[in-house]
Amino acid sequence: MALRILPASAGTGIVFRRTDLDGFEIEASGRNVARVSYATSLMKKGVLISTTEHLLSAFIGVGIDNAIVELDNLELPILDGSARPFVEMIQKAGIRRQRKARTYLRIVREVELREGDKFIAVYPAEAYSVSYAINFPHPKIGRQTFCVQLTNGSYLREIAPARTFGFMHEAEALRQQGLIRGASTENAIVMDRDEVLNPPLRFADEFVRHKVLDLIGDLALIGKQILARSWRIALATPCTLRWCRAFCETSRTGKRLRWMRLTPPRPSPPRPV
Ligand SMILES: [Zn+2]
Repeated sequence: MALRILPASAGTGIVFRRTDLDGFEIEASGRNVARVSYATSLMKKGVLISTTEHLLSAFIGVGIDNAIVELDNLELPILDGSARPFVEMIQKAGIRRQRKARTYLRIVREVELREGDKFIAVYPAEAYSVSYAINFPHPKIGRQTFCVQLTNGSYLREIAPARTFGFMHEAEALRQQGLIRGASTENAIVMDRDEVLNPPLRFADEFVRHKVLDLIGDLALIGKQILARSWRIALATPCTLRWCRAFCETSRTGKRLRWMRLTPPRPSPPRPV
């Protein structure tokens, strides 16, 4: 499996390129969201890119707006199950500021979406922060809440290292469906019904931190840097993805959503609306 990240001109956004399919390109956009049970997938004209959320989260975390991501496979490498290897790779290559000014998506009034016990909300704010609450019926997880501010570098320390997690019994079922081909104790926190099978954890609350990581990666499908405070309470991601897709479809058809607008970059600090 080979993955290569290339520079792209301003305004490109993040584009995945399948080198095994004549360079077929799929934009990292909510309008290409598909879903295959356990991870975020993008699909365009039947071509799939799977498990995009960790790399997209890393891009947001280090402030990358434009890149071409080449891969020769439908699934992004899981690496150690976190975003840290991607972040390190990007930092090693270096980041260049582009001349064209960045635009932000400013949320101007709150939007809340509830589906059963899942809940996602986005509120107006002057910076980008993401909060997440989980309540997992497992002795090592339970109730955990975490909030990260994305503008002060804390992503790199507090979120990027948090690994994905899974349960022995689920891993077996997924493997039978041909998914998570490479999943192992090397690339995920693996648990049985009572214990973590491959300790130590990187953080006592690594589970919710990883949920924050995934949420940032899924919200990246909006395709803009956001000025908002996002809150998520749930166990799974479909409602975030539906939200992103609805968002992108609305903005593509040109209908202005009443709760958001694009703001020019800030020469001065943004003002409350
Ligand atoms: Zn994840």
